[in-house]
Amino acid sequence: MLGLIHVAYIISALLFILSLAGLSKQETAKLGCTSGIIGMTIALLATFVGVETVVGWAIIVIAMVIGAAIGLYLAKKVEMTQMPELVAMLHSFVGLAAVLVGFNSFLELVGNDATSTLTVSADASLAQVAELLAQAKQSVSEHADKLSSKELAIHLVEVFLGVFIGAVTFTGSVVAYGKLNGSFKLTIFKSKPLVLPFRHGLNILALVVSFILMIVFMCTATSNSSVALVSLVVMTVIALLFGIHLVASIGGADMPVVISMLNSYSGWAAAAAGFMLNNDLLIVTGSLVGSSGAILSYIMCKAMNRSFLSVILGGLGNKAAAADEEEHGEHKELSYGDVADLLKNANSVVITPGYGMAVAQAQYPVATLTEKLRAKGINVRFGIHPVAGRLPGHMNVLLAEAKVPYDIVLEMDEINDDFADTDVVLVIGANDTVNPAALENPNSPIAGMPVLEVWNAKNVVIFKRSMSVGYAGVQNPLFFKENSYMCFGDAKQSVEEIVKLI
Ligand code: NDP
Repeated sequence: MLGLIHVAYIISALLFILSLAGLSKQETAKLGCTSGIIGMTIALLATFVGVETVVGWAIIVIAMVIGAAIGLYLAKKVEMTQMPELVAMLHSFVGLAAVLVGFNSFLELVGNDATSTLTVSADASLAQVAELLAQAKQSVSEHADKLSSKELAIHLVEVFLGVFIGAVTFTGSVVAYGKLNGSFKLTIFKSKPLVLPFRHGLNILALVVSFILMIVFMCTATSNSSVALVSLVVMTVIALLFGIHLVASIGGADMPVVISMLNSYSGWAAAAAGFMLNNDLLIVTGSLVGSSGAILSYIMCKAMNRSFLSVILGGLGNKAAAADEEEHGEHKELSYGDVADLLKNANSVVITPGYGMAVAQAQYPVATLTEKLRAKGINVRFGIHPVAGRLPGHMNVLLAEAKVPYDIVLEMDEINDDFADTDVVLVIGANDTVNPAALENPNSPIAGMPVLEVWNAKNVVIFKRSMSVGYAGVQNPLFFKENSYMCFGDAKQSVEEIVKLI
C-alpha cells in the first residue's frame, strides 16, 4: 500500500509541474488547471487511503466537507476584484497550518509517544496490558535513542523554522488582506506604509532574538522540554509581530511584490510542514509554490524597477506623497459623443486597462468596443502593465474572460515604443500604471517604476469616476497634459454608451 501511495504522490507531483507549465501561457492555461485538479484529486485520494483508521477517515471527510462548503461558497460569492484579498487570506491559512503542525510535531516528540501507547480499554486482559507496557517501554527507549540522533537535530530545526516561517506568513498575509481590502481603520491595514522609528533595527532585533531562541530550543529540547517549549512560544510571538511589521511597513505600489512574496512564503511554510510530517508530496508541492512565488516576486521587482531586498525590508514605497499637494493645472473633459468621434477617425487605438476596469466589470463592453473598431479596420491593441489591477495577470484574466483575442494583448515592454504612432489611447480605470510622475518626479513614491507611456500618443482619454488618486495614493500629472481628456463616470457605463454611438 505504501508503495502505491508513493507512486500516487509522484504522479501528483508531476501533474503539479505540468500544471505550472500550462499556466504560464494563456493558450494552455485551461490544460494547466485541469492537470492541477487531477493532481490534487490523486493526492487527496492517496492521503485518504494512507490514513488506515476509521477515526482518521472520519476526520478527513468532515474537514473536506467543511472545506469544500466554504470553498464553493467563496468561489460563488467572491468578486474578481476581491480575489487578491482571498488569495492573501488563503496564504494565511497555510502559515497557520505550518505553526500548528510545528507545535504538534514538537509536543509529540517530547512526550506524547509514550503516554498514548499506554491507553488501554477497560476489558483488556493482563497479558494485553503487559504487552502494551512493554511496547511503551520500548517506545520510551526508542524515543531516547532518537533524542540523541542527528536526525533529531534536523527535525528540531525543521520544527523551529517551520513555525517561524508559518507565523510570519500568517500575520503578514492577514495584514496584506487588510491592505488590499481597504475598509479597515487600523493603521497597519492602510495602503500607506507604516513607518516606525528604528524599523530596520526592530526587524534585525527580531531575527537575532529568534536565532538565539533557536539555539536555546535546540540545546534544551532533549534535556528540558519546558524551556524548549517556552523558547518556541516566545519565538512564535516574535515571528507573529515580525510578520505584521514586515508587511505593514510596505505599501503603495510595492504591494504586488508583497503578495507574490507571501505566496512564496506560504509555499516554504507548506514545505516545512512536509518535512515535519515526513510527507514527500507536501515537500515537493511546497517547494514548487515557494520557488514559483520567489521567481514571480523577482519578475515583479524587475518590472517595477525595485530591488527585492529593499521592498521586503520596507525601504521603498514610503517617500512622502509630496506630489499630492502639487498644483497640476486644469483638466479637460470629453463627452461620450466626442470620444466616439475621436475613435471613428483613428487608425490606431491602444487600450490600457487598470483596476477600475475590474471594479466596473467593464471588460465586456471593452471587448465589444474592440470588435466594433476592428470591424471598421482600426488597429486596436491592449497594453498591459505587469502590476495593473490587484493581482499578477489580473487584466489578462479579465480580457480572456471577455474573449478578447490574445494576440492583440501586449505587455508594457512590447507596446511602450508604439504610443508615439498611436492616435487614441483609452485608459480604462488605470492610474498608477500610466502615471508620468514615476519617470519625471524623483520625489514621487512611485519614482523609478516603469509605466505605460500613454502621453506620447496623439490623444489620451481617461475613463474614471473622479480626479481621485490610485492605489499608491499619488496624483497623476497625466490628467492635466495638453493631449489628455477625462471621460468621467463608471467605466462600464461610459464604454457602453460609446459603443452605442459607434
Ligand atoms: P490604480 O489602483 O492606480 O487606479 C485605479 C483607478 O480606477 C482609480 O484611480 C479609480 O479612480 C478608477 N476606478 C475605480 N473604480 C472605477 C469604476 N467603477 N469606473 C471607472 N474607474 C474606476 O490602478 P492601476 O491598475 O493603474 O494600478 C494598480 C495599482 O495597484 C498599482 O499601484 C499597483 O502597485 C497596485 N497593486 C497591484 C497588485 C498586483 O498584483 N497587480 C497588487 C497590489 C497592489 P476613481 O475612483 O476616480 O474612479
